[in-house]
Amino acid sequence: MKMVFLGPPGAGKGTMAVRVADAAGIPHISTGDIFRFNIKNETELGKKVKAILDSGELVPDTVTIELVQDRLQKDDAANGFILDGFPRTIPQADALGEMVELDRVINFELSDVEVVKRLSGRRVHPGSGRTYHVLFSPPRVEGKDDETGEPLVQRDDDKEEAIKNRLNVYREQTQPLIDYYRSRGKLVDLDSAPSPDNVYAALAELLGLKRA
Ligand code: ADP
Ligand code: ADP
Repeated sequence: MKMVFLGPPGAGKGTMAVRVADAAGIPHISTGDIFRFNIKNETELGKKVKAILDSGELVPDTVTIELVQDRLQKDDAANGFILDGFPRTIPQADALGEMVELDRVINFELSDVEVVKRLSGRRVHPGSGRTYHVLFSPPRVEGKDDETGEPLVQRDDDKEEAIKNRLNVYREQTQPLIDYYRSRGKLVDLDSAPSPDNVYAALAELLGLKRA
């Protein structure tokens, strides 16, 4: 299945993508994770995009589109994938449309109030990308990754100023993709407000996956 997970930052796309990818045996492709990996490893790409990610603005379309094009050519993506955080603009969606025929676009719906709660409490394990929430999905030991015991961090763009900016960027540049995909008959709305297990159950049902 070739899918896009669309929705505001913090809606739970990454959390659900990890579970669906595992259950469906398809790769989870997060452009945000790819950028953060490059920043951490101080690659040329990482140096170019660090300030952009910290501010919550979008990386230029040309850079992002090329990255996704390369990633989708890998063998593991031949039979399906979950794109998480891409496309975020109409030109990105147009470019993706030239690369592949999508089966579904899942529209994660969540109010701004809940988005802010989720982003401000999000903590990540930088090495693996594992994601926690201080209230909704806490690690077994406070501040430590469950698997490695290494420290969890707050992303720079999950701090208050950047959150506001990211929501504006989402509204202006990404939200138009809802109509874009709805008019093409690809969109399915998903209420993302329930607990992680309940959102997953709804998603698994929708995609015809066995529950994990
Ligand atoms: P979240 O999961 O919180 O929505 P992401 O991890 O998807 O955030 O993205 C983090 C940042 O990476 C974005 O704020 C943006 O700077 C950059 N980014 C990720 N995907 C894209 C994209 N498709 N186009 C442009 N910039 C992107
Ligand atoms: P996105 O990839 O859309 O930016 P994440 O999957 O990173 O969102 O989730 C944002 C934060 O919300 C994380 O801290 C995550 O643990 C938490 N979270 C995810 N799904 C839910 C949910 N259904 N209920 C409560 N918190 C959630």
